[in-house]
Amino acid sequence: MPYDAIKELSTMVKGKILYQVPLSRYTALHVGGIADSMIYPANLTELQKIISFCRTEKVPYFILGRGSNLVIRDGGIRGIVIKLSQSFKKIKIVKEFGNHARLFVEAGVSLRRLFTYSESRGLSGVEFTSGIPGSLGGALAMNAGAQGREMKDITETLTLLTPRAALREKKRSALHFDYRRLHLPKGTVIVNASIRLKKHSTSTLLTREKSTPWRRQMQPLNLPSAGSVFKNPPGKSAGQLVEQAGLKGLLAGKAQISEKHGNFIVNRGGATARDVLSLMKIMQSRVYQETGIRLEKEVHVVGENE
Ligand SMILES: Cc1cc2nc3c(=O)[nH]c(=O)nc-3n(C[C@H](O)[C@H](O)[C@H](O)COP(=O)(O)OP(=O)(O)OC[C@H]3O[C@@H](n4cnc5c(N)ncnc54)[C@H](O)[C@@H]3O)c2cc1C
Repeated sequence: MPYDAIKELSTMVKGKILYQVPLSRYTALHVGGIADSMIYPANLTELQKIISFCRTEKVPYFILGRGSNLVIRDGGIRGIVIKLSQSFKKIKIVKEFGNHARLFVEAGVSLRRLFTYSESRGLSGVEFTSGIPGSLGGALAMNAGAQGREMKDITETLTLLTPRAALREKKRSALHFDYRRLHLPKGTVIVNASIRLKKHSTSTLLTREKSTPWRRQMQPLNLPSAGSVFKNPPGKSAGQLVEQAGLKGLLAGKAQISEKHGNFIVNRGGATARDVLSLMKIMQSRVYQETGIRLEKEVHVVGENE
């Protein structure tokens, strides 16, 4: 365990460092073992220093957003978990042109704040993110989307930090967005984005209240979850396939396939990653047996087995 190396790093950074961090507190599903350490870099220079240090000292690192699309295994995460939520929170309009505006948004900004900021300035284009409980960085990494719109539709450029700690600006045309995925080399950090929104009269603007009722109806928002567990296969709904396989409500330990939505696994209190992963296996094998369709994970499964 690179514990001494992490201690050494702590003398070089001003940002907060925590040790032996229970990751279940940092994931929407409330599962996940212990992280050796968690660092909140104080600024971009510090983030670069940390990435460069990890490379030379061979310390593994993991970027954690708001933990809303993650299953972290019960053995936790070795090395450093990097959180951008304290110092990467700037959001501002940098240019207005015609009926458009360009926003500069840092990776630690929550989608909720991005929505509220845009809504209060009469800007539209991010309504689809309403009710998605992620950070900008996580939403870009996942190419999060809803109602036929995705993060790629509003992205103009991204500032990335490469695993060699070099800063790169990439235009959308040079980025490879896919369904619930942005292809980036492993270890790349999304630092900020330039996004393009439309000016709107407030009367036609879709407000938070108007854009989320369908979620309350369809999704088990009263219990911890990680959102959709599997990607929708082309032309199909993963939730319906799980439901047709008769699996809704199935329990493994304290994890349960939601009775409300077949593609959500909920934590009924005290579930482990092992419980969640065993339900995921059952969902995949039963749907495959019955339909020949292989469900592909949407959630990222990371960390060590216990
Ligand atoms: C109730 C509920 C509803 C949801 N509804 C939707 C929905 O409608 N549509 C949808 O697409 N998703 C949905 N999700 C899933 C999730 O909210 C989104 O994928 C979200 O964008 C993930 O952001 P995050 O900050 O939580 O990322 P995390 O879960 O923390 O991380 C996800 C991945 O992104 C990487 N990552 C995070 N930040 C960065 C960064 N700065 N640089 C590089 N990599 C990074 C992480 O390493 C990880 O691999 C839902 C989840 C829940 C719990």
